[in-house]
Amino acid sequence: MPHPLLDLPPLTADRFAAVERRVASLLATENDVVIMQGEALLPLEGCIRGGARPGSTALNVVTGPYGQTFGNWLRDCGATVVDLEVPFHTAVSADRIEHALAAHPEIDFVSLVHAEAATGNTNPVAEIGSVVRAHGALFMVDAVASVAAEPLYTDAWGVDLCVIGAQKAMGGPAGVSAVSVSERAWARFAANPRAPRRSYLSLLDWRERWIDTGRRALPHAPAQLEMLALEACLDRIEAAGLSTVTARHAATAAAVRAGALALGGGLEPYAREAAEAAPVATTLRTPAGTDATELVAKALAADPSLPLVAGGGALAAEMIRVNHYGAAAAPDVVHACLTALGTALEEALGGAGRPVDQEAARRAADEAWREGLSDAAGDRPRHDG
Ligand SMILES: *Cc1c(COP(=O)(O)O)cnc(C)c1O
Repeated sequence: MPHPLLDLPPLTADRFAAVERRVASLLATENDVVIMQGEALLPLEGCIRGGARPGSTALNVVTGPYGQTFGNWLRDCGATVVDLEVPFHTAVSADRIEHALAAHPEIDFVSLVHAEAATGNTNPVAEIGSVVRAHGALFMVDAVASVAAEPLYTDAWGVDLCVIGAQKAMGGPAGVSAVSVSERAWARFAANPRAPRRSYLSLLDWRERWIDTGRRALPHAPAQLEMLALEACLDRIEAAGLSTVTARHAATAAAVRAGALALGGGLEPYAREAAEAAPVATTLRTPAGTDATELVAKALAADPSLPLVAGGGALAAEMIRVNHYGAAAAPDVVHACLTALGTALEEALGGAGRPVDQEAARRAADEAWREGLSDAAGDRPRHDG
C-alpha cells in the first residue's frame, strides 16, 4: 500500500511556481515571490544579509523580540544601526519614524515587524510605508504574524521585502516561508558584494537559478510536505475568502479584549489602544499580586489544548498571551480561554481583589464577536498608503 504522506510523486516546478503566484496574490504584490524552504527566520536573515553592508545605515524598529534579532544581524553585516525602541504596550507611529529618518538622512534600510504576536501590538505599515518611501530607504517588513490576520497590501504600502510564514493566521506549517522582493531590493542585493551567494541564505541564488531561468527547474529538491501543506492553507483561505479569514481574527481579538475587561478581577488588555491591538493574538496584563506564568499553568491544567501562554522573558510575570490564530480564531475558543482564565484568577485571588464575573465576560465577548464580524462585513478593502 502506498503511504499517503511518504510515497508522493515529486513536486513539479510548475506546481511550485503556482504556489508562488498564489502567495503573491495573498500579499497583494506584483513583485517576485520566493518561497524559502525553512522557517521565516530564513528569509528574514537572507533579506538583512542581502540588503545591509558596511557603510549602510539601518533604522531598526524594535517593538518586540524579533526587532532585537534584526538589529544583531544588521550589526553583524557591518551596518550602522539606529535602534528605535518602543514600549511593549504600544505600537510605533509614523511620526516617530519620520523623526528618526530626518535625524539620520543617511538611513538606507528600514526593518519593521508588522504585527507582534509576542506583545500583541500591530504597527501602522501603510503610514510608515509612505514616510519610508518619501525618504527613499529600502523597507523590510516581517508580516509573519499579520498575514491572513489583518489587511496586508505589500505594493500599495511600498514594502520592498515582505516576509511571511504559514504558521500563524494561515493555520499552516512552520517549515516553509516566503518573501516578496521588489526591483529596488533586487538591485540592492546585486550591488552588495557581501550579499550571500551560493548559500542557503541567498535570495540572489533563487533569482539566478530559478526566476531568471523561467522557473523551469527547481535548484534543489523542495520540502515536499511543507509545500503541500502551504498549498492546502492557500486552498482553505481562498475558499473562505481572505477578508473572511481576517475578519474572524479581528472579531476574535475584539471578543477576547472585551471579555477580559468584563471578566474583572483586575485583568486588563496589555495593548493600551484597541486600534493598536494585533488581530493575531491578545495580550493581557495580570492583576497585582498574581503571576502570569502561574495563572497560565492553572488554566492549562484544566485544558491543555487552550492557546494560552505567559509572556516571554521579562514579561513572564505580568503578561498572558491568547494566541487566537488559525483554527483558534473562533468564539468557542474565546469562551474556553475566558472560562479557564476566570477560574484560575478566582483561585489565585482567593476572594481578595476585585470580583470575577464569568457570565459578564461571556456576554461581552459574544457581543464584541458579533459586532466585529458585522464591522468587517461593511468594510471595503483598504488600499490606503
Ligand atoms: C511567529 C513569528 C515569527 C516566526 O517565529 P517562530 O517563533 O518560529 O514562529 C517571526 N516574526 C514574527 C513577528 C512572528 O510573530
